[in-house]
Amino acid sequence: MVLDIKNVSKNFGGIHALKNVSFSIKQGEIYGLIGPNGAGKTTMFNLITNIFEPSSGDIIFDSQTITGLKSHKITEKGICRTYQNIRLFSQMTALKNVMVGGHSRSSSGVFSSVFRTKKQREEEIQLNQKAEDLLELVGLLEHKDTLAENLAYGQQRRLEIARAMASNPKLLLLDEPAAGMNEKETDSLYDLIKMIQSKGITVLIIEHDMPLVMKLCDRITVLNFGEKLAEGTPTEIQNNEAVIEAYLGKE
Ligand code: ATP
Repeated sequence: MVLDIKNVSKNFGGIHALKNVSFSIKQGEIYGLIGPNGAGKTTMFNLITNIFEPSSGDIIFDSQTITGLKSHKITEKGICRTYQNIRLFSQMTALKNVMVGGHSRSSSGVFSSVFRTKKQREEEIQLNQKAEDLLELVGLLEHKDTLAENLAYGQQRRLEIARAMASNPKLLLLDEPAAGMNEKETDSLYDLIKMIQSKGITVLIIEHDMPLVMKLCDRITVLNFGEKLAEGTPTEIQNNEAVIEAYLGKE
């Protein structure tokens, strides 16, 4: 297992955002986290990346407890994410946005100032090359010098994924990557996530676009009012009465 969520709960004052939720993700899977608005999906991402600590329970990544680790340490261990609302540096080029992502897992911070300049310069060259490779992967290389704010919406979402990939994640968390995308953009997002999987990266995705989720995911957990309602393959989830009742609705 790459990620083990063990009996995790999160309370915000009187709000029980997550109640005793457990699930495990295998290496190389695309795993879906779905459910109605307010079900606790983004809270789960915020706990995995330690924006907040769980009220109880444990999060285990690569056989090590990461509960309570600082967010940058979690990135260093290999968990990277995108956000529900796009968080790019709008006045920076596409290339710079990706390079900033790469810095978050680079080693320059631990060297003394004597060694930093040369090391940083070498890193800069490597990061530049890597950022270009990632832009190519997400189909944005020709836009590398375009300011992020001038990219189309779907391109900005792809740029966010490239930025998250710059830190060499073992596990990539995608928070509603298809939100606001048209059909064509969603199709190419599907191809991109499959390509990421083919590189051996495990993906945990929050998404409301059900055709995409059902096509893309190997397994799915459904949350409802902070509780796990069901877990299974897309077929199992689509046929689960409780899930149909609470979330999917009848055809
Ligand atoms: P959506 O699909 O709308 O993004 P979600 O499943 O991601 O919803 P969360 O954003 O995790 O749901 O919210 C779960 C519950 O926790 C909601 O009731 C929300 O208001 C509450 N919540 C989330 N973050 C906080 C916070 N920082 N402070 C207080 N309450 C919070």
